[in-house]
Amino acid sequence: MGKILDVSGKVIVITGGSRGLGAEMAREFAASGADLVLTSRNKESCEVVANEVRQLGRKAVAVSCDVSNLSDIRNLFNVTLKEFGRLDVLVNNAGANVTKPAVEVTEEDWDYINDVNIKGLFFCCQEAAKIMIQQNSGKIINISSVGGVKPYKRIAPYTSTKAAVIHLTRSLAAEWARYNIHVNSIAPGLISTEINKTEMENTEWLDRAIKAIPLRRLGDPKDISQIALYLISDAANYITGQTFYIDGGTLSE
Ligand code: NAP
Repeated sequence: MGKILDVSGKVIVITGGSRGLGAEMAREFAASGADLVLTSRNKESCEVVANEVRQLGRKAVAVSCDVSNLSDIRNLFNVTLKEFGRLDVLVNNAGANVTKPAVEVTEEDWDYINDVNIKGLFFCCQEAAKIMIQQNSGKIINISSVGGVKPYKRIAPYTSTKAAVIHLTRSLAAEWARYNIHVNSIAPGLISTEINKTEMENTEWLDRAIKAIPLRRLGDPKDISQIALYLISDAANYITGQTFYIDGGTLSE
């Protein structure tokens, strides 16, 4: 098993690499031999994760990039090429949410969520693909959510962007398969991270949420990093255009 999921020497960009699921994927990939470019709006936090990667014996670079800013995105991929000379994997993990009733959502809320979760994600895919087309190889993982399929109250803009991620994944997989670029998506269920800190602190809400998960537990960042490792490894070379729901059974009922 360890050998088949070997990703030695692969160069991987993770957006939202400063904490949460992105940081856990960085640790997982580095432990399996990959080099990392970690990026978010906060370079210092990415640098902390980059240091953990270096302690695992791999190379890591921290880059500041707000994915809602196209010139930041271009700079991210220029730095990646300058540092490593290639790009094997992009994980589009950066994500943002605003929780409030739909009637209270402002244009600013809508633009903020869409700029990060779908516009930024698309343009990261585009810049990555320009490099991967030249290489005739590459893998992209887009992080969606069970909310991209199942409706949830008070997060309508967020869930609509996550549905768009699932469809965009299929469109890009179809368009770029001829270049040997694999595009897949992971849709996590509920995992305790910064993005849902306020909800997690509400014990009544949390109890209800766990009861709605057939496996009766929250997800762990490792549940996501391990499927991501599988998808970027050669074991997944015949998979593209798919979304993997890692949700403790949430979508099964
Ligand atoms: P998190 O701890 O809040 O991490 C979000 C990451 O996105 C951080 O690294 C953050 O870094 C980065 N980010 C936010 N806005 C950004 C921007 N404009 N430009 C660049 N980076 C930005 O939450 P998480 O749970 O690990 O989220 C990771 C992904 O999983 C997200 O796409 C989220 O929607 C998805 N997801 C999470 C859950 C869950 O239950 N946790 C469930 C389903 C899907 P900075 O603040 O440093 O910029």
